[in-house]
Amino acid sequence: MVLQQLGGSITRALQQMSNATIIDEKVLNECLNEITRALLQSDVQFKLVRDMQTNIKKIVNLDDLAAGHNKRNIIQKAIFNELCKILDPGKPAFAPKKGKPSVVMFVGLQGSGKTTTCTKYAFYHQKKGWKPALVCADTFRAGAFDQLKQNATKAKIPFYGSYMESDPVKIAVEGVERFKKENCDLIIVDTSGRHKQEAALFEEMRQVSEATKPDLVIFVMDSSIGQAAFDQAQAFKQSVAVGAVIITKMDGHAKGGGALSAVAATKSPVIFIGTGEHMDEFEIFDVKPFVSRLLGMGDWSGFMDKIHEVVPMDQQPELLQKLSEGNFTMRIMYEQFQNILKMGPIGQVFSMLPGFSAELMPKGREKESQAKIKRYMYMMDSMTNEELDSTNPKLMNESRIMRIARGSGRQVRDVMEMLEEYKRLAKIWSKMKGLKIPKKGEMSALSRNMNA
Ligand code: GDP
Repeated sequence: MVLQQLGGSITRALQQMSNATIIDEKVLNECLNEITRALLQSDVQFKLVRDMQTNIKKIVNLDDLAAGHNKRNIIQKAIFNELCKILDPGKPAFAPKKGKPSVVMFVGLQGSGKTTTCTKYAFYHQKKGWKPALVCADTFRAGAFDQLKQNATKAKIPFYGSYMESDPVKIAVEGVERFKKENCDLIIVDTSGRHKQEAALFEEMRQVSEATKPDLVIFVMDSSIGQAAFDQAQAFKQSVAVGAVIITKMDGHAKGGGALSAVAATKSPVIFIGTGEHMDEFEIFDVKPFVSRLLGMGDWSGFMDKIHEVVPMDQQPELLQKLSEGNFTMRIMYEQFQNILKMGPIGQVFSMLPGFSAELMPKGREKESQAKIKRYMYMMDSMTNEELDSTNPKLMNESRIMRIARGSGRQVRDVMEMLEEYKRLAKIWSKMKGLKIPKKGEMSALSRNMNA
Protein backbone atom coordinates (compact mmCIF):
# COMPACT_ATOMS: atom_id res chain seq x y z
CA MET A 1 0.00 0.00 0.00
CA VAL A 2 1.51 3.28 -1.04
CA LEU A 3 -0.11 5.04 1.89
CA GLN A 4 2.75 3.50 3.81
CA GLN A 5 5.11 5.46 1.57
CA LEU A 6 3.14 8.53 2.47
CA GLY A 7 3.68 7.72 6.13
CA GLY A 8 7.39 7.28 5.43
CA SER A 9 7.62 10.64 3.62
CA ILE A 10 5.83 12.46 6.43
CA THR A 11 8.04 10.84 9.04
CA ARG A 12 11.15 11.82 7.07
CA ALA A 13 9.97 15.41 6.71
CA LEU A 14 9.42 15.61 10.47
CA GLN A 15 12.77 14.04 11.14
CA GLN A 16 14.54 16.56 8.93
CA MET A 17 12.77 19.38 10.66
CA SER A 18 13.62 18.18 14.13
CA ASN A 19 17.26 17.91 13.10
CA ALA A 20 17.33 21.65 12.46
CA THR A 21 18.87 23.64 15.31
CA ILE A 22 16.39 26.48 15.15
CA ILE A 23 12.82 25.99 14.10
CA ASP A 24 11.66 29.17 12.47
CA GLU A 25 8.90 29.85 10.00
CA LYS A 26 11.13 28.90 7.08
CA VAL A 27 11.95 25.47 8.51
CA LEU A 28 8.33 24.84 9.43
CA ASN A 29 7.21 25.86 5.93
CA GLU A 30 9.75 23.57 4.33
CA CYS A 31 8.49 20.71 6.44
CA LEU A 32 4.86 21.47 5.62
CA ASN A 33 5.64 21.79 1.92
CA GLU A 34 7.33 18.44 1.99
CA ILE A 35 4.26 16.92 3.65
CA THR A 36 1.95 18.66 1.18
CA ARG A 37 3.92 17.23 -1.71
CA ALA A 38 3.71 13.75 -0.22
CA LEU A 39 -0.06 14.04 0.23
CA LEU A 40 -0.62 15.32 -3.31
CA GLN A 41 1.56 12.58 -4.73
CA SER A 42 -0.61 10.09 -2.89
CA ASP A 43 -3.68 11.49 -4.65
CA VAL A 44 -5.22 13.33 -1.75
CA GLN A 45 -7.40 16.10 -3.14
CA PHE A 46 -5.70 19.49 -3.48
CA LYS A 47 -8.28 21.43 -1.47
CA LEU A 48 -8.03 19.01 1.45
CA VAL A 49 -4.26 19.30 1.47
CA ARG A 50 -4.39 23.08 1.32
CA ASP A 51 -6.88 23.25 4.19
CA MET A 52 -4.77 20.88 6.19
CA GLN A 53 -1.68 23.01 5.70
CA THR A 54 -3.53 26.16 6.73
CA ASN A 55 -4.92 24.47 9.83
CA ILE A 56 -1.56 23.13 10.92
CA LYS A 57 -0.04 26.57 10.61
CA LYS A 58 -2.81 27.95 12.76
CA ILE A 59 -2.33 25.28 15.41
CA VAL A 60 1.44 25.22 15.56
CA ASN A 61 2.71 28.16 17.51
CA LEU A 62 6.27 28.99 16.56
CA ASP A 63 6.93 30.65 19.93
CA ASP A 64 6.09 27.36 21.64
CA LEU A 65 8.48 25.58 19.34
CA ALA A 66 11.24 28.07 20.04
CA ALA A 67 10.74 27.61 23.77
CA GLY A 68 12.26 24.18 23.41
CA HIS A 69 9.16 22.03 23.55
CA ASN A 70 9.41 18.85 21.59
CA LYS A 71 8.93 20.31 18.14
CA ARG A 72 8.53 17.07 16.38
CA ASN A 73 5.81 15.93 18.76
CA ILE A 74 3.86 19.17 18.47
CA ILE A 75 3.87 19.10 14.70
CA GLN A 76 3.33 15.36 14.44
CA LYS A 77 0.34 15.72 16.77
CA ALA A 78 -1.07 18.52 14.58
CA ILE A 79 -0.65 16.39 11.45
CA PHE A 80 -2.10 13.40 13.24
CA ASN A 81 -5.16 15.43 14.25
CA GLU A 82 -5.64 16.89 10.78
CA LEU A 83 -5.46 13.48 9.09
CA CYS A 84 -7.89 12.12 11.66
CA LYS A 85 -10.21 15.02 10.92
CA ILE A 86 -10.25 14.12 7.21
CA LEU A 87 -11.06 10.51 7.98
CA ASP A 88 -13.46 11.05 10.81
CA PRO A 89 -16.68 12.86 9.96
CA GLY A 90 -17.48 12.97 13.65
CA LYS A 91 -20.59 10.84 13.54
CA PRO A 92 -20.52 7.06 13.74
CA ALA A 93 -22.16 4.91 11.07
CA PHE A 94 -25.41 3.15 11.79
CA ALA A 95 -24.55 -0.03 13.66
CA PRO A 96 -26.85 -2.99 12.96
CA LYS A 97 -28.06 -4.78 16.07
CA LYS A 98 -27.96 -8.51 16.46
CA GLY A 99 -31.44 -10.03 16.50
CA LYS A 100 -33.09 -6.97 14.95
CA PRO A 101 -33.51 -7.03 11.14
CA SER A 102 -31.38 -4.45 9.35
CA VAL A 103 -31.07 -3.88 5.62
CA VAL A 104 -27.67 -2.84 4.36
CA MET A 105 -27.29 -1.80 0.74
CA PHE A 106 -23.95 -1.83 -1.04
CA VAL A 107 -23.18 0.65 -3.83
CA GLY A 108 -20.07 1.42 -5.86
CA LEU A 109 -18.48 1.38 -9.28
CA GLN A 110 -18.05 -1.88 -11.14
CA GLY A 111 -14.84 -3.63 -10.20
CA SER A 112 -14.54 -1.80 -6.89
CA GLY A 113 -14.87 -5.11 -5.06
CA LYS A 114 -18.50 -4.64 -4.06
CA THR A 115 -19.70 -8.23 -4.45
CA THR A 116 -16.62 -9.61 -2.71
CA THR A 117 -17.05 -7.09 0.08
CA CYS A 118 -20.74 -7.97 0.57
CA THR A 119 -19.72 -11.52 1.37
CA LYS A 120 -16.82 -10.44 3.56
CA TYR A 121 -19.20 -8.19 5.49
CA ALA A 122 -21.74 -11.01 5.86
CA PHE A 123 -19.06 -13.51 6.85
CA TYR A 124 -17.57 -11.14 9.40
CA HIS A 125 -20.95 -10.71 11.10
CA GLN A 126 -21.84 -14.36 10.83
CA LYS A 127 -18.70 -15.22 12.79
CA LYS A 128 -19.90 -12.83 15.47
CA GLY A 129 -23.28 -14.53 15.79
CA TRP A 130 -25.40 -12.57 13.34
CA LYS A 131 -27.74 -14.26 10.89
CA PRO A 132 -26.82 -12.56 7.62
CA ALA A 133 -28.30 -13.08 4.14
CA LEU A 134 -27.28 -11.85 0.71
CA VAL A 135 -29.51 -10.47 -2.03
CA CYS A 136 -28.13 -10.02 -5.54
CA ALA A 137 -29.87 -7.01 -7.09
CA ASP A 138 -27.22 -6.72 -9.77
CA THR A 139 -29.00 -7.68 -12.96
CA PHE A 140 -26.68 -5.67 -15.18
CA ARG A 141 -23.48 -7.67 -15.02
CA ALA A 142 -23.69 -11.15 -16.45
CA GLY A 143 -22.31 -13.53 -13.86
CA ALA A 144 -22.95 -11.26 -10.88
CA PHE A 145 -25.51 -13.65 -9.38
CA ASP A 146 -23.24 -16.64 -9.95
CA GLN A 147 -20.38 -14.87 -8.22
CA LEU A 148 -22.51 -13.96 -5.21
CA LYS A 149 -23.98 -17.43 -5.10
CA GLN A 150 -20.53 -19.01 -5.15
CA ASN A 151 -19.21 -16.75 -2.40
CA ALA A 152 -22.33 -17.19 -0.28
CA THR A 153 -22.26 -20.96 -0.63
CA LYS A 154 -18.63 -21.06 0.42
CA ALA A 155 -19.44 -19.03 3.52
CA LYS A 156 -22.69 -20.91 4.15
CA ILE A 157 -24.76 -17.73 3.98
CA PRO A 158 -28.30 -17.83 2.54
CA PHE A 159 -28.70 -15.89 -0.70
CA TYR A 160 -31.39 -14.73 -3.07
CA GLY A 161 -31.26 -13.75 -6.75
CA SER A 162 -32.57 -14.66 -10.16
CA TYR A 163 -31.21 -15.59 -13.56
CA MET A 164 -34.47 -14.62 -15.29
CA GLU A 165 -35.71 -11.46 -13.63
CA SER A 166 -34.22 -8.26 -15.04
CA ASP A 167 -35.77 -5.80 -12.61
CA PRO A 168 -33.31 -5.21 -9.75
CA VAL A 169 -35.93 -3.45 -7.64
CA LYS A 170 -38.25 -6.45 -7.76
CA ILE A 171 -35.45 -8.85 -6.78
CA ALA A 172 -34.27 -6.60 -3.98
CA VAL A 173 -37.76 -6.28 -2.51
CA GLU A 174 -38.48 -10.01 -2.79
CA GLY A 175 -35.13 -10.92 -1.24
CA VAL A 176 -35.49 -8.51 1.66
CA GLU A 177 -39.05 -9.69 2.40
CA ARG A 178 -38.06 -13.31 2.28
CA PHE A 179 -35.12 -12.94 4.62
CA LYS A 180 -37.10 -10.80 7.04
CA LYS A 181 -39.60 -13.66 7.24
CA GLU A 182 -36.72 -16.04 7.86
CA ASN A 183 -35.62 -13.88 10.79
CA CYS A 184 -32.31 -12.89 9.27
CA ASP A 185 -30.95 -9.90 11.14
CA LEU A 186 -28.54 -8.58 8.53
CA ILE A 187 -29.93 -8.45 5.01
CA ILE A 188 -27.30 -7.33 2.56
CA VAL A 189 -28.34 -6.03 -0.86
CA ASP A 190 -25.70 -5.97 -3.58
CA THR A 191 -26.50 -3.52 -6.39
CA SER A 192 -25.11 -3.06 -9.89
CA GLY A 193 -21.94 -1.17 -10.47
CA ARG A 194 -20.94 0.25 -13.81
CA HIS A 195 -17.78 1.57 -15.26
CA LYS A 196 -18.81 5.13 -15.89
CA GLN A 197 -21.08 7.36 -13.99
CA GLU A 198 -24.12 6.46 -16.03
CA ALA A 199 -27.30 8.24 -15.08
CA ALA A 200 -29.18 4.93 -15.25
CA LEU A 201 -26.98 3.43 -12.53
CA PHE A 202 -27.83 6.23 -10.16
CA GLU A 203 -31.52 6.08 -10.99
CA GLU A 204 -31.55 2.31 -10.41
CA MET A 205 -29.71 2.73 -7.14
CA ARG A 206 -32.22 5.34 -6.01
CA GLN A 207 -35.12 3.03 -6.85
CA VAL A 208 -33.63 0.04 -5.02
CA SER A 209 -32.99 2.27 -2.06
CA GLU A 210 -36.52 3.68 -2.05
CA ALA A 211 -38.05 0.23 -2.32
CA THR A 212 -35.95 -1.54 0.31
CA LYS A 213 -35.46 1.40 2.71
CA PRO A 214 -32.00 0.36 3.85
CA ASP A 215 -30.88 1.18 7.37
CA LEU A 216 -27.41 1.73 6.01
CA VAL A 217 -25.97 2.38 2.53
CA ILE A 218 -22.32 1.42 2.22
CA PHE A 219 -20.21 2.95 -0.53
CA VAL A 220 -17.49 0.53 -1.61
CA MET A 221 -14.42 2.11 -3.08
CA ASP A 222 -11.25 0.75 -4.59
CA SER A 223 -8.21 2.34 -2.93
CA SER A 224 -6.60 2.86 -6.34
CA ILE A 225 -9.25 5.28 -7.52
CA GLY A 226 -6.86 8.26 -7.39
CA GLN A 227 -7.75 11.89 -7.93
CA ALA A 228 -11.19 11.04 -9.34
CA ALA A 229 -12.21 9.74 -5.94
CA PHE A 230 -13.66 12.92 -4.52
CA ASP A 231 -16.05 13.53 -7.43
CA GLN A 232 -17.08 9.89 -7.72
CA ALA A 233 -17.85 9.62 -4.05
CA GLN A 234 -19.76 12.88 -4.06
CA ALA A 235 -21.89 11.69 -7.00
CA PHE A 236 -22.92 8.58 -5.07
CA LYS A 237 -23.61 10.59 -1.95
CA GLN A 238 -25.88 12.93 -3.90
CA SER A 239 -27.99 10.04 -5.17
CA VAL A 240 -28.34 7.83 -2.13
CA ALA A 241 -27.86 8.40 1.57
CA VAL A 242 -24.38 6.93 1.86
CA GLY A 243 -23.81 6.29 5.55
CA ALA A 244 -20.48 4.45 5.56
CA VAL A 245 -17.52 3.65 3.35
CA ILE A 246 -15.51 0.48 2.85
CA ILE A 247 -12.18 0.85 1.07
CA THR A 248 -11.00 -2.24 -0.77
CA LYS A 249 -7.66 -3.48 -2.10
CA MET A 250 -5.65 -1.80 0.61
CA ASP A 251 -3.21 -4.67 0.14
CA GLY A 252 -2.29 -3.51 -3.35
CA HIS A 253 0.03 -0.86 -4.64
CA ALA A 254 -2.55 1.85 -4.93
CA LYS A 255 -1.62 5.31 -3.77
CA GLY A 256 -4.57 5.26 -1.42
CA GLY A 257 -4.78 9.01 -0.91
CA GLY A 258 -7.87 9.14 -3.10
CA ALA A 259 -9.59 7.09 -0.47
CA LEU A 260 -8.96 9.82 2.08
CA SER A 261 -10.52 12.34 -0.30
CA ALA A 262 -13.55 10.14 -0.90
CA VAL A 263 -14.21 9.87 2.78
CA ALA A 264 -14.13 13.63 3.03
CA ALA A 265 -16.58 13.83 0.11
CA THR A 266 -19.14 11.45 1.58
CA LYS A 267 -18.69 12.79 5.10
CA SER A 268 -19.21 9.20 6.18
CA PRO A 269 -16.87 7.08 8.24
CA VAL A 270 -14.82 4.25 6.83
CA ILE A 271 -15.99 1.17 8.69
CA PHE A 272 -13.90 -1.61 7.17
CA ILE A 273 -11.03 -2.06 4.77
CA GLY A 274 -10.44 -4.95 2.40
CA THR A 275 -6.92 -6.31 2.52
CA GLY A 276 -7.06 -9.23 0.08
CA GLU A 277 -9.24 -11.37 -2.09
CA HIS A 278 -10.08 -13.88 0.61
CA MET A 279 -13.18 -13.81 2.71
CA ASP A 280 -11.36 -13.08 5.96
CA GLU A 281 -9.06 -10.41 4.57
CA PHE A 282 -11.25 -7.74 6.01
CA GLU A 283 -10.46 -5.45 8.92
CA ILE A 284 -12.44 -3.10 11.06
CA PHE A 285 -11.29 0.41 10.41
CA ASP A 286 -10.48 2.70 13.25
CA VAL A 287 -9.24 6.18 12.41
CA LYS A 288 -6.68 6.83 15.13
CA PRO A 289 -4.80 3.54 14.94
CA PHE A 290 -4.83 3.81 11.14
CA VAL A 291 -3.34 7.28 11.15
CA SER A 292 -0.75 6.32 13.74
CA ARG A 293 0.25 3.41 11.57
CA LEU A 294 0.47 5.77 8.63
CA LEU A 295 2.78 8.04 10.57
CA GLY A 296 4.85 5.09 11.73
CA MET A 297 3.64 5.52 15.29
CA GLY A 298 2.43 1.93 15.66
CA ASP A 299 -1.08 0.72 16.24
CA TRP A 300 -1.59 -0.39 19.79
CA SER A 301 -5.22 -1.26 19.53
CA GLY A 302 -4.82 -3.40 16.41
CA PHE A 303 -1.90 -5.11 18.01
CA MET A 304 -3.74 -5.73 21.25
CA ASP A 305 -6.68 -7.15 19.32
CA LYS A 306 -4.28 -9.50 17.60
CA ILE A 307 -2.84 -10.48 20.96
CA HIS A 308 -6.34 -11.32 22.11
CA GLU A 309 -6.84 -13.40 19.01
CA VAL A 310 -3.59 -15.30 19.14
CA VAL A 311 -2.07 -15.38 22.59
CA PRO A 312 -3.82 -18.08 24.60
CA MET A 313 -6.30 -16.53 27.01
CA ASP A 314 -4.48 -17.86 30.06
CA GLN A 315 -1.25 -16.15 29.03
CA GLN A 316 -2.73 -12.78 28.20
CA PRO A 317 -3.08 -11.30 31.70
CA GLU A 318 0.49 -12.25 32.56
CA LEU A 319 1.93 -10.62 29.47
CA LEU A 320 -0.14 -7.47 29.82
CA GLN A 321 0.67 -7.31 33.52
CA LYS A 322 4.39 -7.49 32.77
CA LEU A 323 4.10 -4.81 30.12
CA SER A 324 2.10 -2.54 32.39
CA GLU A 325 4.83 -2.87 35.02
CA GLY A 326 7.25 -1.58 32.45
CA ASN A 327 9.27 -4.79 32.45
CA PHE A 328 10.02 -5.25 28.81
CA THR A 329 12.62 -7.95 29.05
CA MET A 330 14.35 -9.92 26.34
CA ARG A 331 12.13 -12.81 27.30
CA ILE A 332 9.03 -10.77 26.54
CA MET A 333 10.55 -9.80 23.20
CA TYR A 334 11.21 -13.48 22.55
CA GLU A 335 7.64 -14.42 23.45
CA GLN A 336 6.32 -11.62 21.22
CA PHE A 337 8.42 -12.84 18.33
CA GLN A 338 6.96 -16.29 18.88
CA ASN A 339 3.48 -14.81 18.78
CA ILE A 340 4.23 -12.82 15.65
CA LEU A 341 5.41 -15.94 13.85
CA LYS A 342 2.19 -17.63 14.93
CA MET A 343 -0.04 -14.73 13.98
CA GLY A 344 0.74 -14.23 10.31
CA PRO A 345 0.29 -12.94 7.72
CA ILE A 346 3.35 -11.36 9.11
CA GLY A 347 3.28 -8.09 7.20
CA GLN A 348 -0.11 -7.26 8.55
CA VAL A 349 0.95 -7.74 12.12
CA PHE A 350 4.24 -5.95 11.74
CA SER A 351 2.71 -2.73 10.66
CA MET A 352 0.54 -2.87 13.76
CA LEU A 353 3.24 -3.68 16.22
CA PRO A 354 4.36 -0.49 17.92
CA GLY A 355 7.94 0.18 17.01
CA PHE A 356 7.89 -1.80 13.83
CA SER A 357 6.99 1.03 11.51
CA ALA A 358 5.99 0.27 7.98
CA GLU A 359 9.24 1.75 6.84
CA LEU A 360 11.34 -0.68 8.84
CA MET A 361 9.29 -3.73 8.02
CA PRO A 362 7.97 -2.95 4.57
CA LYS A 363 5.20 -4.90 3.02
CA GLY A 364 6.42 -7.23 0.36
CA ARG A 365 9.48 -8.10 2.45
CA GLU A 366 7.68 -10.41 4.83
CA LYS A 367 10.09 -13.27 4.20
CA GLU A 368 13.07 -11.12 5.14
CA SER A 369 11.35 -9.86 8.26
CA GLN A 370 10.44 -13.37 9.27
CA ALA A 371 14.02 -14.56 8.73
CA LYS A 372 15.28 -11.68 10.84
CA ILE A 373 12.97 -12.57 13.70
CA LYS A 374 14.05 -16.18 13.56
CA ARG A 375 17.69 -15.08 13.58
CA TYR A 376 17.08 -12.94 16.66
CA MET A 377 15.35 -15.86 18.32
CA TYR A 378 18.27 -18.24 17.65
CA MET A 379 20.58 -15.75 19.28
CA MET A 380 18.27 -15.36 22.25
CA ASP A 381 18.30 -19.16 22.59
CA SER A 382 21.95 -18.78 23.54
CA MET A 383 21.19 -16.35 26.32
CA THR A 384 21.03 -17.22 30.00
CA ASN A 385 17.89 -16.82 32.10
CA GLU A 386 19.50 -13.89 33.86
CA GLU A 387 20.06 -12.15 30.53
CA LEU A 388 16.58 -12.90 29.27
CA ASP A 389 14.90 -11.61 32.40
CA SER A 390 16.99 -8.52 32.89
CA THR A 391 15.86 -5.00 32.06
CA ASN A 392 19.34 -3.64 32.59
CA PRO A 393 21.02 -2.97 29.22
CA LYS A 394 24.42 -2.64 30.94
CA LEU A 395 24.34 -6.32 31.79
CA MET A 396 25.17 -7.19 28.21
CA ASN A 397 28.91 -6.68 28.31
CA GLU A 398 31.44 -7.66 25.67
CA SER A 399 32.12 -11.16 26.97
CA ARG A 400 28.40 -11.97 27.13
CA ILE A 401 27.90 -10.69 23.59
CA MET A 402 30.81 -12.79 22.34
CA ARG A 403 29.45 -15.87 24.08
CA ILE A 404 26.02 -15.42 22.50
CA ALA A 405 27.56 -14.93 19.06
CA ARG A 406 29.64 -18.10 19.45
CA GLY A 407 26.73 -20.07 20.87
CA SER A 408 24.41 -19.18 18.03
CA GLY A 409 27.01 -19.31 15.26
CA ARG A 410 26.50 -15.64 14.43
CA GLN A 411 28.72 -12.57 14.24
CA VAL A 412 29.13 -10.15 17.13
CA ARG A 413 27.54 -7.45 15.00
CA ASP A 414 24.42 -9.61 14.61
CA VAL A 415 24.08 -9.81 18.38
CA MET A 416 24.65 -6.06 18.63
CA GLU A 417 21.92 -5.49 16.06
CA MET A 418 19.53 -7.68 18.01
CA LEU A 419 20.35 -5.80 21.24
CA GLU A 420 19.78 -2.48 19.50
CA GLU A 421 16.40 -3.74 18.32
CA TYR A 422 15.61 -4.73 21.88
CA LYS A 423 16.58 -1.31 23.22
CA ARG A 424 14.49 0.43 20.60
CA LEU A 425 11.45 -1.70 21.30
CA ALA A 426 11.92 -1.47 25.06
CA LYS A 427 11.88 2.31 24.78
CA ILE A 428 8.64 2.31 22.83
CA TRP A 429 7.01 -0.38 24.88
CA SER A 430 7.92 1.37 28.10
CA LYS A 431 4.92 3.58 27.35
CA MET A 432 2.81 0.67 28.50
CA LYS A 433 4.06 1.23 32.03
CA GLY A 434 1.34 2.14 34.46
CA LEU A 435 -1.43 1.72 31.95
CA LYS A 436 -4.65 0.06 32.89
CA ILE A 437 -4.65 -3.45 31.51
CA PRO A 438 -7.33 -3.53 28.87
CA LYS A 439 -9.89 -6.21 28.41
CA LYS A 440 -11.22 -7.11 25.01
CA GLY A 441 -13.40 -4.26 23.79
CA GLU A 442 -11.44 -1.68 25.76
CA MET A 443 -8.78 -1.41 23.15
CA SER A 444 -9.66 1.96 21.74
CA ALA A 445 -9.25 3.59 25.13
CA LEU A 446 -5.77 2.18 25.35
CA SER A 447 -5.04 3.30 21.83
CA ARG A 448 -6.14 6.81 22.70
CA ASN A 449 -3.73 6.86 25.60
CA MET A 450 -0.87 5.53 23.57
CA ASN A 451 -1.40 7.96 20.76
CA ALA A 452 -1.93 11.00 22.94
P1 GDP B 1 -17.61 -5.60 -8.13
O1 GDP B 1 -17.64 -5.49 -9.61
O2 GDP B 1 -17.51 -4.25 -7.50
O3 GDP B 1 -18.69 -6.43 -7.56
O4 GDP B 1 -16.19 -6.27 -7.79
P2 GDP B 1 -15.82 -7.77 -7.39
O5 GDP B 1 -16.30 -8.08 -6.03
O6 GDP B 1 -16.18 -8.68 -8.49
O7 GDP B 1 -14.23 -7.61 -7.28
C1 GDP B 1 -13.41 -7.27 -8.36
C2 GDP B 1 -12.04 -7.89 -8.16
O8 GDP B 1 -11.40 -7.30 -7.05
C3 GDP B 1 -12.10 -9.37 -7.85
O9 GDP B 1 -11.06 -10.00 -8.55
C4 GDP B 1 -11.87 -9.45 -6.35
O10 GDP B 1 -11.29 -10.68 -5.97
C5 GDP B 1 -10.94 -8.30 -6.14
N1 GDP B 1 -10.99 -7.76 -4.78
C6 GDP B 1 -12.04 -7.34 -4.05
N2 GDP B 1 -11.66 -6.87 -2.84
C7 GDP B 1 -10.31 -6.98 -2.80
C8 GDP B 1 -9.29 -6.63 -1.82
O11 GDP B 1 -9.55 -6.12 -0.72
N3 GDP B 1 -8.01 -6.92 -2.17
C9 GDP B 1 -7.69 -7.46 -3.38
N4 GDP B 1 -6.40 -7.71 -3.62
N5 GDP B 1 -8.59 -7.79 -4.30
C10 GDP B 1 -9.88 -7.55 -4.02
